[in-house]
Amino acid sequence: MSYLAKNYNRKKISFKKGKGSYLYTSNGAKYLDFVQGIAVNCLGHAHPKLVETIKNQSKKLWHVSNAFQIPEGEKLAKKLCKKTFAESVMFQNSGAEATEAAIKVARRYFYSIGKPNKNRILCIKNSFHGRTLATIFASGSKKMTEGFGPKVPGFDHVIFRDTKPRFPNLNNKIKKNTAAIMVETIMGEGGVKPIPDKCLKYLRKICNKKNILLILDEVQSGISRSGDFFAFEQSKIKPDIVPIAKGIGGGFPIGAVLMNKRVASGMIPGTHGSTFGGNPLAMAIGNEVMNIVSNKKFLNSVKKMSKYFLLNLNIIKEKYPSMIKEIRGRGFLIGIQLYKDQTKFIKKLMDNKLLTIRAAENVIRILPPLNVKKKEIDKALKIINKVCQDLS
Ligand SMILES: *Cc1c(COP(=O)(O)O)cnc(C)c1O
Repeated sequence: MSYLAKNYNRKKISFKKGKGSYLYTSNGAKYLDFVQGIAVNCLGHAHPKLVETIKNQSKKLWHVSNAFQIPEGEKLAKKLCKKTFAESVMFQNSGAEATEAAIKVARRYFYSIGKPNKNRILCIKNSFHGRTLATIFASGSKKMTEGFGPKVPGFDHVIFRDTKPRFPNLNNKIKKNTAAIMVETIMGEGGVKPIPDKCLKYLRKICNKKNILLILDEVQSGISRSGDFFAFEQSKIKPDIVPIAKGIGGGFPIGAVLMNKRVASGMIPGTHGSTFGGNPLAMAIGNEVMNIVSNKKFLNSVKKMSKYFLLNLNIIKEKYPSMIKEIRGRGFLIGIQLYKDQTKFIKKLMDNKLLTIRAAENVIRILPPLNVKKKEIDKALKIINKVCQDLS
């Protein structure tokens, strides 16, 4: 008998502790965790530096109101801005809050320059931006919105296809009152589908031409997961607003909206707030995560190791061409797309002590910690190869 709500379909397993890439059950079984809380634990479980940080900060100060200065938050905001396109940061506690705040920032900007009707947000059909009322209707997915009406207005949708043109009819979807285009740089839940650099450039161009803002949701793809600090960096474009969460807390709930000066100008005192957002404990951890994951050496190792992983996954794909359709993704946001339903494959991987998670389009999503060791990747490859063998 469980007193928890039934809104999740949970696997019948629980864990007592974690260390690095591994999780341990109470009877001592050891699992290679390539879910890591869905791209949350970017440094694996119980990273010594994060344990140290949380211990030290928890003895000093956990929470104060945003009515006061929070130096730890000033420090983290500065780090995020120095590292990226951003010039201003607003802290939240989760991804959905961050994407919803991103929508607020876009609307408020046009309001502040005397264009209050320019408030519609154009999103990709069946994308994922979180589970609040606004963000489910932003995603435009029937599965997520069913039963949660009335519909939150203000969102339009464009389809993102695998074939050209990737965004059919995009120009007609942009209306006079469109304030922003909001897309995930790499669609995570949607099946680990990167938006090609060319398409990102095209979106930026259209946004410039029509004076609308570009919001890139990097909640899953950001914080070095792709091998760059942000996945969009490879395309050389600059977005206006970027919501982040997942990786930035290394397992502690943190969200944030990063934005340029222009759009930040609309967020004057009183326009937005979050009681927990940006508290000293969260900020101390965020600072430590940034210290570790944002330097060049760390990024190079993510690039190198993920390349090795992807290369070898493609070799497995060549061996089982009737089972594996495609190896997708970038950096350590990886998808193995099967020809048929992936449930059984994921179960078999778990039986062999490798944890992975599903995504749409028959995809098995693989999200190792960014500091994963080569021998752990080799172990995962061996298990994946064995399951392919067993199921073919
Ligand atoms: C996970 C995710 C969110 C939502 O984050 P929560 O912390 O679950 O609210 C939003 N956007 C993207 C791209 C995500 O992957």
